[in-house]
Amino acid sequence: MSYQSTIDLHAHSTASDGELTPAELVEMAMQNGVETLALTDHDTVAGLADAQAAAIQHKMTLINGIELSTRWDNKTIHIIGLNIDDKSKTMLDATIHLNQLREERAIKIGEKLEKVGIRNAYKESMALAGKGTVTRQHFAQFLVNNDHAKSYAEVFKRFLVNNKPGYVSVAWPGLAETINNIKVAGGIAVIAHPLRYRLTATKLRKLISEFKNSGGKGIEVVTGNNNKDEITTVTNYAKRYDIAASLGSDYHNSKTPWAQLGKLTTIPQGLTPVWELW
Ligand code: AMP
Ligand code: MN
Ligand code: MN
Ligand code: MN
Repeated sequence: MSYQSTIDLHAHSTASDGELTPAELVEMAMQNGVETLALTDHDTVAGLADAQAAAIQHKMTLINGIELSTRWDNKTIHIIGLNIDDKSKTMLDATIHLNQLREERAIKIGEKLEKVGIRNAYKESMALAGKGTVTRQHFAQFLVNNDHAKSYAEVFKRFLVNNKPGYVSVAWPGLAETINNIKVAGGIAVIAHPLRYRLTATKLRKLISEFKNSGGKGIEVVTGNNNKDEITTVTNYAKRYDIAASLGSDYHNSKTPWAQLGKLTTIPQGLTPVWELW
């Protein structure tokens, strides 16, 4: 039921845990028929300048984005900032803080994996991240490369998650602070992949309601791998809370065929697309 969308507002590059450089990502988006792409790397704006330059070359529209890690109700929730000013001092300061938290977590993940006999995880995962933001995906890559797991899916069952080796909880900034940083940077805050947090319906309603009260504007109604029922569920939340709808593949690499650039269904009728807000 997916088709090739001309808009994709959620994608990653080597500035965080994506496989392609910002310029390569823009080029692949163009090849896939995407005309408007948002680069939304985890907790960094470092890829945006290169992506903008490539977008100008290919006569595409590049929306400056970011995917911010936030802590809500003891869980990590991802908030996308769209159409932000990538030179915003507030946003740059926020990313510096977030990357410090990521680096401290990476050290602790390395120590925890060492305790179960897996050596060099910190050093090698940092090397895989290169200049980009270090994420659990880099640790997953390291674990798969070294035969501790067969796939990323297996890693996120056996390692790096609650009650498993290598899990470290992080005190990410709260929801209100995160939304405010996006607002100060001139952007629009969007709840990323709302059904991936395994929240009960009650908790998800609470999240959306608090998000809206703090100035949040949108929710991802269509993401890379969701089915018709999931789209209907989120559509109903968007209507009920009167917030705008976003769509994005959450593209990282070619290994996940269900999350490729522009491979998305349309936003259901009756919703306000986020781009009408900018
Ligand atoms: P982090 O933001 O450092 O906690 O890392 C989160 C990233 O890890 C996500 O953005 C994905 O790229 C990856 N990830 C998390 N869970 C999974 C999963 N179950 N399968 C594959 N990748 C995952
Ligand atoms: Mn990621
Ligand atoms: Mn995410
Ligand atoms: Mn993402």
